Amino acid sequence: QIPYGTQDENAYQFHFNSFCDTYSLHPILTYNGLRILDQNSVIALSQNFSRRTTIRFIAAKNELFTYLEANPKSAPVLQVLLRTYGGVFEYDTKINTLLIAKKSGISEELVLSILEKSSMHGIVEYTSENRDMELTFIVPREDERTINVFANKITAINENKIANVNAMLAYIHNNNDCRNLQLLRYFGEKKKDPCGKCDVCRNKTDFPSSKVATIEQEILNLLEQNARTSRKLIRLLAHEEDEVLTCLQYLLEDGTIRVNNKNEYSLN
Ligand SMILES: [Zn+2]
Repeated sequence: QIPYGTQDENAYQFHFNSFCDTYSLHPILTYNGLRILDQNSVIALSQNFSRRTTIRFIAAKNELFTYLEANPKSAPVLQVLLRTYGGVFEYDTKINTLLIAKKSGISEELVLSILEKSSMHGIVEYTSENRDMELTFIVPREDERTINVFANKITAINENKIANVNAMLAYIHNNNDCRNLQLLRYFGEKKKDPCGKCDVCRNKTDFPSSKVATIEQEILNLLEQNARTSRKLIRLLAHEEDEVLTCLQYLLEDGTIRVNNKNEYSLN
């Protein structure tokens, strides 16, 4: 634990899963929280899924030499370790197993198994743990003061996200305002005139789309019997002339009907 107001510049091994377990935190929320701290330069997060391996030679030197002679397969790795890391007799020394593998000309896996074996034979003390994250504190610990700097920013970002989703939902459910105006409002533009073309606008005119569908169906029923001119259709249908003409136009546009050389409409 870091005292208030101080900073510890060490990189910490951070066991993400056990951290979440210990404090009953949701892993995804926790990860996002850490990323926000990282983005705001409170901590530096390095994610490396590498292994942290430490080693210390515990055998006496003569004991070690006997062991090296008796175990020619292990000897090169142990010799590389002795040459690479000074103090390996005195301290638990953090080693780079990949480097040792390269220097010894064998696989990292084999290096680990040789270390395992040497450990069982009492030559070295060997620990190997998988670490998942490394965390460095960039600013001194000041709790709320540190967080407050960007807490407002994050609140604003979240509120903005919520507002966007709500605006989108409103767009889907709002059948009173012109769709185009709603969209423009969503993008922050202020415009007053409805487009006159979207489903909302068309339903607001005297000629709603439900009525269009009815008239179109009646026209199609008549044309199924005979090809007819617009004059005849208007006379046969109990609708306004301009409504019938508009529907004929729609049907022509979507290719449901056509006009023949006698100026009659017929089904396509
Ligand atoms: Zn509209």
